[in-house]
Amino acid sequence: MTSARGKDFGARLADVSRRLCARFGRPFRCAHEEEPVRNLILTILSQNTTDANRDRAFRSLTRRFPEIPLLARAKPEQVEEAIRVGGLAKAKAGSILTALSRLKQERGGYTLDFLRDRSLPEARAYLTSLPGVGIKTANVLLLFSFGKEAFPVDTHILRVARRLRLVPATADLSRAALLLEPHVPKGEHIPLHLNLIRLGREICRPSNPLHAECPLLPVCPEGVRGTGKRRTHAR
Ligand code: SF4
Repeated sequence: MTSARGKDFGARLADVSRRLCARFGRPFRCAHEEEPVRNLILTILSQNTTDANRDRAFRSLTRRFPEIPLLARAKPEQVEEAIRVGGLAKAKAGSILTALSRLKQERGGYTLDFLRDRSLPEARAYLTSLPGVGIKTANVLLLFSFGKEAFPVDTHILRVARRLRLVPATADLSRAALLLEPHVPKGEHIPLHLNLIRLGREICRPSNPLHAECPLLPVCPEGVRGTGKRRTHAR
């Protein structure tokens, strides 16, 4: 297995990204496009649910509390009720209200803008100190709201990375993110993140992965094993 610390690891990730872009295109999503505090709430709501239910919960919450200060003054039961469709409503309502209360107390307002000037590790350390915010949630915010070179790893990316032997089979979401992040080539964080998720949903599925249709088959030990094909590095 290629070590995550191997000197050719960045080149391997660049090759994976190039192959995925050749199949799926280069997804464009502008960093800084989402307001950080709203994105924080959205990412808390995204835990252990589908994108569709996350979006339903977020729409319901913003209909009920259109402004952040209004939301921050809400009772936990009111927030819980508004986000019930997304699951784990009690825990998520608590995380959202505690995070808003801490921001108000520590920063004097509902803003995360001060993180723009912090280094990636410092900004991540602050975000993960908030309740309900793990490495994955923090990395989504850092990548999409602040344009920092963080690399969020979800269950799809973790599965693909394990099968490609990019991370050890025992790596969890947080460890995989921290192993991959420093080696993702500059400018590839967003396309690689989004295209790996798409690959995991459409082709490298949890069961019955479609090895023969996969653009990464030539560089994937698991796919080669599954199809009985010889591995090639041809580009
Ligand atoms: S070749 Fe198979 S195991 Fe490898 S990434 Fe593609 S679908 Fe997944």
